[in-house]
Amino acid sequence: MAKISFHTDLADLPYVGPAYVAKLNKLGLITVKDLLYHLPSRYENFQLVSHISLLRPQEVVSVKGKVLTIKNVFTKNGKRLTQATIGDESGVIEVIWFNQIFLTKIIKPNTHWIFSGKVDFFGRKLALMSPQYEPFKNSNDQHEGYLSQIHTGRMVPIYPETAGLTSKWLRAKIAYLLKFYSDIVIDFLPEEIIKKNQLLPLPEALLKVHFPKNFEESEKAKHRIAFEELLLLQLSGLKQRKKRFSQQVGLPLTINPFIEKLTVYQNALPFNLTGSQKKAITEILGDLAKQTPMNRLLEGDVGSGKTVVASIAAYLAILNNTQCAFMAPTEILAHQHFATLSKFLGPLGINIFLLTSSKKELPIDFDFNQPFIAVGTHSLLYDHLDFKKLSLVIIDEQHRFGVEQRLTLTKKGKNPHVLTMTATPIPRTVALTFYGDLDLSILSEMPQGRQKIKTWVVPEEKREKAYEWVKQNLESAFVVCPLIDESESLISIKAASKEFENLKSIFPEFKLALLHGRMKSTEKQRILRNFKEGKNNILVATPVVEVGIDIPQANIIIIEAAERFGLAQLHQLRGRVGRNNQQAYCLIFPSEENEHVLNRLKALETVFSGPELAEIDLKLRGPGDIWGKRQHGFLNLKAADLTDQNLIRETKNEAEKIVETDFEKEYPELVQEMKNLTQEEYNPN
Ligand code: ADP
Ligand code: MG
Repeated sequence: MAKISFHTDLADLPYVGPAYVAKLNKLGLITVKDLLYHLPSRYENFQLVSHISLLRPQEVVSVKGKVLTIKNVFTKNGKRLTQATIGDESGVIEVIWFNQIFLTKIIKPNTHWIFSGKVDFFGRKLALMSPQYEPFKNSNDQHEGYLSQIHTGRMVPIYPETAGLTSKWLRAKIAYLLKFYSDIVIDFLPEEIIKKNQLLPLPEALLKVHFPKNFEESEKAKHRIAFEELLLLQLSGLKQRKKRFSQQVGLPLTINPFIEKLTVYQNALPFNLTGSQKKAITEILGDLAKQTPMNRLLEGDVGSGKTVVASIAAYLAILNNTQCAFMAPTEILAHQHFATLSKFLGPLGINIFLLTSSKKELPIDFDFNQPFIAVGTHSLLYDHLDFKKLSLVIIDEQHRFGVEQRLTLTKKGKNPHVLTMTATPIPRTVALTFYGDLDLSILSEMPQGRQKIKTWVVPEEKREKAYEWVKQNLESAFVVCPLIDESESLISIKAASKEFENLKSIFPEFKLALLHGRMKSTEKQRILRNFKEGKNNILVATPVVEVGIDIPQANIIIIEAAERFGLAQLHQLRGRVGRNNQQAYCLIFPSEENEHVLNRLKALETVFSGPELAEIDLKLRGPGDIWGKRQHGFLNLKAADLTDQNLIRETKNEAEKIVETDFEKEYPELVQEMKNLTQEEYNPN
């Protein structure tokens, strides 16, 4: 066997067969390092070692004892039990396992074992029920007893969702690596940083995060890993930033000669720009005037007016006799942007064209030297599209493009300015931690004249009154059922069906329909069409169903068990109503009514910006809940907590100091680790 290192493929480890490799890979664990960094989500506390005579029902304990007898018993009702008796110097107790008859082949009489589990009555006698078991060894291993018992008699690591791999299996493999190959773990953090921040060295941190002797040890170990995680994240952002600041735009843009034109353009818009639009424009123009390429993210809810803001940047590119590429992930979005830009910039005689997979031809004699704005999908990436003067790249919903695709587009120019846009509500804190090379503008208000969706958090005692009110005011309503699990299970569907029946009796005068994710697509289409045409007035839906289609007359949305959603998710849900100019309403029913829950939900009554709500949630609940599981893939931090402002600040300070140095030479190990980051990066350069 080749020498094992951090980067050894798990498939090359002894006793790991192909079936296990497949399961490991499914969890994203490919190398030895991945496995060692697969951290426990919690620990089972089996630290209390007790004498048998002292055992009490319901206690979770560990017992060291000699096996006196062990046998399998088949009960009349078909159960298969393994029944053992064990003894120590204080007494004897029975041990029971269900459906594990192989244990009689492993656990033999007259051998010493340690058992960890719960004490309970079995029949009339106390017994240790289904305990974990492990041969008892005297702890003289070289890790000072950290690895002598791994499944029992200690804090035992439990691993997150494991795709068919048991925590026991993972534990054994990780312990094996730590035991026999501890020398493969080499600390890549500079020693002065470890000292100054009082961090555990990496080998110790990995040992103690998996197999701590107590809670403090596990916390300290996790802190070290969180530190390096945030440090690397920020470092890679700052490194990108440093690189960008060393670059010069290929086609500098000037603003001063065009200030008047830009002002005239803004004044000619058929509406007044919002305060945050104006602020974003100032920030963007500030960037465009610089010699270093812009890298800015413009963030705002759907309808907050991002395209109009972007149009000003595009206009400046044209005024400078250069070109702009505007890429969107779908044809529909590309069409929308094309329509908006044509409406506002078209009358100025600016050449704007649309390229999508269904429309990709340009005139044969197309002049690639003239100023123009090319709006399109991935089609903009085609080779034949030969921008000669590309100064500005705008990318909508950029996370839906791969790094390669973004790079291909920017490479069509020479260090062009880049403006990205997103409607994903990323809290400012998260953006600045994750995307260290990104400047951020947030549109935190909706354009004037647009009705705010009146939102009320309704306590249970007012439910009936609320239903009365709904009867008076209903045009069409969505009722969103409780979020039970992320992927729609039968339990969710049952809950929705029950709510559907319940509401039928509450709203006998209305026509109700039920929509859930397990319905056939044609059935869903039919229900949505009926709803749109007004044949039904109340649509009861499970949360996973995309009720995203436009139902202009829908004026009320009721959300059940709302505390199970993130605030930004709730905000997105309420965006389903109010699609025409009439007042729309959102009624939020919590299923728990403690002060904490109510206060959090009440933010929705006064805040109408996705990013702001996400930021509030981040502070109150941590990142996991902001978007729901499906959307926050890029928040896959192993140990770090994005609400830990102190740690974010400390690591940022260190990262800033490091990038000041000639760090590629000074800290080669760190640089190597940065390269291994699979982090989604906003910087397309
Ligand atoms: P986004 O791209 O953020 O979803 P758009 O830029 O497409 O939003 O704007 C949505 C609609 O609102 C467009 O029709 C746009 O013309 C209009 N709009 C943009 N800004 C304003 C404003 N300040 N006041 C009124 N309407 C606006
Ligand atoms: Mg848009």
